Amino acid sequence: MQIPTTCCVCSSQPETRDHLMLTCPYATLIWTEVRRRMRTTVPLFTDWSQLIQWSSTSTVTAPSVLRMLVVQALVYGIWQQRNTHACCTTIIWSLLWFSSKTSIGRSSTRYMH
Ligand SMILES: [Zn+2]
Repeated sequence: MQIPTTCCVCSSQPETRDHLMLTCPYATLIWTEVRRRMRTTVPLFTDWSQLIQWSSTSTVTAPSVLRMLVVQALVYGIWQQRNTHACCTTIIWSLLWFSSKTSIGRSSTRYMH
């Protein structure tokens, strides 16, 4: 059985955790929106350890609980998109994802623009 190794969202890179969650164009759009909404600097993550380190850091405007919620919601949403795209070739546009009533939108409005 041949298993495809190319990212099924963008079809341009090997599908790795870091690519899918951090550097895939779909993930990049979502991270761009997170950077726009958070009241703290969110770095450009290139590997998973940077993301974990950032999520465990706490500031007054972006406590680690909020950061972990953001990471969990993003991982869930991106993984769901990946699986939907893999079986249905349907894209849920990243900005629509934000405009829907996601846990990020509801639970963290205090901390986001
Ligand atoms: Zn990709």
